[in-house]
Amino acid sequence: MFHCGGCFMTSNDQQRRKIGKRKKENALPGAVINPRIPELRDVKTGDFLDAHELATKAHQDVPWRHRTRLSLIEAQHRKQPIWVCAVCGVMVRLASSRRKNFFFRHVVEDGRCLYVTREDLPLDVRAAKYDGAKESDAHIEMKKMIVESLQADKRFRTDTIFEETSWKSKEYPNQRRRPDVQAEFEGGLRIAFEVQLSSTLIDEAVSRRDFYLQDGGLLVWVFRSVETQNPRMYQGDILFMNSGNLFVVDDETVEASLNERRLYLKNHHIIPEADHGNIRLTWSAPRLVAFDSLTLDPVGQRVMLYDYDAEEAKLREAMHEELQKDVRSNFLDFWRTNEPLQREREIYKVADQYRDLRQHMERNGCQMPQDSTFPLQPRVSSSRSRSNMEF
Ligand SMILES: [Zn+2]
Repeated sequence: MFHCGGCFMTSNDQQRRKIGKRKKENALPGAVINPRIPELRDVKTGDFLDAHELATKAHQDVPWRHRTRLSLIEAQHRKQPIWVCAVCGVMVRLASSRRKNFFFRHVVEDGRCLYVTREDLPLDVRAAKYDGAKESDAHIEMKKMIVESLQADKRFRTDTIFEETSWKSKEYPNQRRRPDVQAEFEGGLRIAFEVQLSSTLIDEAVSRRDFYLQDGGLLVWVFRSVETQNPRMYQGDILFMNSGNLFVVDDETVEASLNERRLYLKNHHIIPEADHGNIRLTWSAPRLVAFDSLTLDPVGQRVMLYDYDAEEAKLREAMHEELQKDVRSNFLDFWRTNEPLQREREIYKVADQYRDLRQHMERNGCQMPQDSTFPLQPRVSSSRSRSNMEF
């Protein structure tokens, strides 16, 4: 991103204007349509906040607007940020345009920020946003808790436990990652612990997983808590990358780790259940588990108490067999029962029954003609019934 001398017009500004036109229709009232910072980060929690929504709130709620402005300025004076730009981590101020629309701007607007547009975040912006989220108080606290727990467990060599230290790729030394915490487990398996509070970007999660996979390490995601009601997207992303298991580090696990001199985590996993031909998920009760008792799968980059993927496959197999059995008997029943039904005016009597059978067959991979008169009284000569045949 470059600036021309005085006016702060950039090529990105021009691009932004074009997108701005398109966005006008869905713009939130009182918010600048294409603000310089679309997303903020709450320094305390690590949560990302939608700058558009906050700008609209500033427009609608006058006391909130002024209290927020004041507290952001106070934070700047005290050098204790509250909200920062999600990408560059610079503190922000709430400002308004000449048209009285609100937006957030960097307290220092020197063109360093990688935010260009929301539509097209380059990879380095994503990584920057991800790394930025690591500065939250909650995140720092979590890293300490993991280190403390690891140090209690002799299965992890003390001189291999590091926080925020570079992990260089063996094969490509110029590629590296900086996991929150890393340690070597007995047997020599290197493990990267990444704390996940509120904000995984799925692309970043995938690229990190691939990095450790390629390097023969194992990536373990660690949460502060697990939402079993209305879980957020990032939690589901990690859940299904890890065969339905999530792990938490909290006060209880740290206490267990220190008491038992063994790394303990809290496991939550999902369980598949058959529900009218679909799979329904339920959550297990959270359970304290020793790390050394878990299944470690560096090839699949999974750490498991329960192999959800395998259980789901078994269940689907059983459901399929059940369905096939049903289909066979339904099919025979239908024809045995309705065989004497010959006259067309009686067809309506079995229309619903035929529809159910047809849907049942279809779920099992068999197409049947849509026209219920067909199996009883074939009318292949009529053009109407021909168009309804879907073999
Ligand atoms: Zn920024």
